Amino acid sequence: MRPADADGFETAHLDGEYDLPALSESTFPKVYIGMDADLLAPGDGIVTDRHHASADRYEADDPMNQIGGQISSFALSGWLRHGCERVLQIGGATACHPGEPNADYKRANVYERDLDAGYHEKGSCVDEGDSDTGCVVYELFGGFGSKPGELIRHPVSFSPIRRQVDVLNGEAEAHFRQLHTQVRSRNEADGGQPLRHATRDVVGNLEGTWLLQLRSLRPEFVGLLIEAVSFLDAYNSKYEFQLGGARNFGAGIVDVGLVNPLYTDREIRRVYNRAQKPTTAMRTKDTKWRDVYRKEFVRALQESLSDEDGELPPAIDGASARGNDSDSRAADDTQGDGR
Ligand SMILES: [Zn+2]
Repeated sequence: MRPADADGFETAHLDGEYDLPALSESTFPKVYIGMDADLLAPGDGIVTDRHHASADRYEADDPMNQIGGQISSFALSGWLRHGCERVLQIGGATACHPGEPNADYKRANVYERDLDAGYHEKGSCVDEGDSDTGCVVYELFGGFGSKPGELIRHPVSFSPIRRQVDVLNGEAEAHFRQLHTQVRSRNEADGGQPLRHATRDVVGNLEGTWLLQLRSLRPEFVGLLIEAVSFLDAYNSKYEFQLGGARNFGAGIVDVGLVNPLYTDREIRRVYNRAQKPTTAMRTKDTKWRDVYRKEFVRALQESLSDEDGELPPAIDGASARGNDSDSRAADDTQGDGR
C-alpha cells in the first residue's frame, strides 16, 4: 500500500517552493538502494539462518550450502552515514560526529582532530539552533539516547536462490561462504607448519536492494541520501568508502545507486529481472527523476544547509548526479585519519 497524498513532503520550514513527487506516485517514504558487490566481508556483521557444513564435507549440490541470512544494518548504516557526513563537508557544512565526546578512543586527541576536520560535537547542533532539531545527519541517524533517527535502516536479507529474493523487501541474492586461511611459517626449520588458522564469513556476488524508510518526509533528507549514495558509488574503491571489513583484499567495493523512487513495485522487480529490459515508461520516469525531482530534493538540502551554516559555497551540486559530473567533483581526498 502506498500512502495517500494528504501527507506529502513537509516544506514549511524551507524557503521557496518545491516541485516534489506525489507520495502515491512514488516509493516514498520507502527508499530503495540498489547494491551490487563482488565480495563483502563485514566481520561479525553476517547472520546466517543455519549451521553450515564443514569444509571437508562440502558437496556442491548439498542443500546445506544454500545458506541465507542477513547483513547487519550496523555495517550498512555506518557506511551510509560516512557518505552523508562527507557530502555535508563538501557542501561547506560540518556533520555531527558519530561518537560520544567522552568515549574511550584508542588514539589520543582523535575527537579533537575530527572537530577540526569537518565535524561538530555530537548533538551540539541541537543546542545551537532555535528549535530542537539538529543537523541533517543528526536527524537522519539519531542522536543521544531517546532521539531515534528519522531513517529506519533495515538489515539486508540475502539468499543464494534468486526466486526467494524479494527486492521490494530489501533483499539480495548473495552467496555465503566461510573462508578458511592457514597462515604457514616461512621459516625453513618449521617445514611449512601452520601457525594460525583463520576463518572469515563472507558473502559473494551480492545483488539486490537495501530498504530504507523515512519516519518524516523532509525533502532535505532525500536530498542528502541522493548525494551520499552517488558519492559512495563514485568513490567505491577508495579504502574509507568501502563497506565492511577486509578492505585490503578488495572486499567491500559496492556499486550503489538509488532505485528510481518513481518506479512502481512491478518496475522495481523488473530492474532485477535479468530477462527483462526497462520499459518506455521507466525511461520516461528516469528522465523526470533526473531532470526535475532529483534536483529539487538536492536544492532542498542546500537550502537547509544554508539555514544551518549561514553562507555556503554552492559546492554540493557538483558532486551529485551519477555519470556526467566526474570532472566537477571537488571532494577532498586527503583525509586519512584512519576512521
Ligand atoms: Zn549535528
